[in-house]
Amino acid sequence: MTKVLLIEEDAQARAAAESALAAPDLTVKTAPDFQSGLDLLRVEKPTALVIGVVVPDLRGYDLCQEIRRDPDFQHLPIVICSAQPYPADARRAKELGADDYVVKPYAGQQLLDAVWNAIELNSTVFRVKFWGTRGSIATPGPETVRYGGNTACVEVRCGEDIIIFDCGTGIRELGLELAREYAEKNLEVHLFVSHTHWDHIQGFPFFQPAYRPGNRVNIFSLHSPDRSLEKLFTGQMDGNYFPVTLDDLMARLHFEELVGDVQIGDVKISHMHLNHPGLALSFRMESKGRSFVYMTDHEPYQKLLGESAHTKKLDAEIDAFAKHADLLIREAQYTDEEYLVKKGWGHSSTSDAASTAMNADVKKLVLFHHDPMHDDQQVDAIVESCREKVSHHSKRIHVMGAADKLTLRI
Ligand SMILES: [Zn+2]
Ligand SMILES: [Zn+2]
Repeated sequence: MTKVLLIEEDAQARAAAESALAAPDLTVKTAPDFQSGLDLLRVEKPTALVIGVVVPDLRGYDLCQEIRRDPDFQHLPIVICSAQPYPADARRAKELGADDYVVKPYAGQQLLDAVWNAIELNSTVFRVKFWGTRGSIATPGPETVRYGGNTACVEVRCGEDIIIFDCGTGIRELGLELAREYAEKNLEVHLFVSHTHWDHIQGFPFFQPAYRPGNRVNIFSLHSPDRSLEKLFTGQMDGNYFPVTLDDLMARLHFEELVGDVQIGDVKISHMHLNHPGLALSFRMESKGRSFVYMTDHEPYQKLLGESAHTKKLDAEIDAFAKHADLLIREAQYTDEEYLVKKGWGHSSTSDAASTAMNADVKKLVLFHHDPMHDDQQVDAIVESCREKVSHHSKRIHVMGAADKLTLRI
């Protein structure tokens, strides 16, 4: 049972909040002043806290800050209710530690929704942010402004750990943000590279944290048949192609050729080979009962090689790798019609992404590696057609298109 503590000094607002929070799976404890609220907080240990701010006294913000400073309550979901309607007030509440802000008087489910959102926010295991979602080549311009034009790069935060999938052109902006965040301290990132085609590595020479002494970049991928992982990266920064060589980078680079699972803090990362020219890997992360799969640049075996017991088994293994993932990021470069003329290029169609998601029974499917020929409207249509395919099979999978700067929490 979810328990919410409501600290509200205004009697009328307290009664309104109490009735707004009435829900079958939720109990509400109330406190009419801050001191009794603090006492109840320690005794009841609620799942979430609602603090009413009385205008103009505004001491509710001080209370929020005081509670946030206590190590026991650093991750307590907090919602502030106030009659101050301006966006600047909401921003300030969040800066002072609130997870959400609701303006009094609120309508219907607003407060209840804010409480559930705050609870979900604080139960996040992986924060996933897309920095590049395009396949093949960067495609900036007004036609791709909503989904973005940068090539593959996805950042995942799990506690203090920073894990990055691929270093296409999107990693440049991620690097700038990390450089700002870690201006005063050393940074360690773990970069998992699906394969070394241009669209998955081209941003690496522009990854600013790699130029700072004291930083460490751990790079995980495969040994190619004819050269080491380090040599693959050295080649990209050969003097014929780029003015700075890999040796000039001042961060410590550690290359690790994958053989088995990798453990980073609380996260276990496993990999699987995909069907793509050369080599390509899919990655699966698991931590605290949540799972995330990154699967791009893959052509289903049966589509390419025809149906046989062998190709069926290989496709089933791919689906099994994504089994029950909370989030599947899956390449869907082509429409089904486009695939017919692009067969053998090593990529998937919308239907292929839908079928992996359905066979694996994932919770959320994010279509990724958008074709450089597709503008925003075409990607919208692809997402919509994928939703239809999934709902046609009465599967309850949330389908969306990956977009630069989109953040998801799982
Ligand atoms: Zn690619
Ligand atoms: Zn590729």
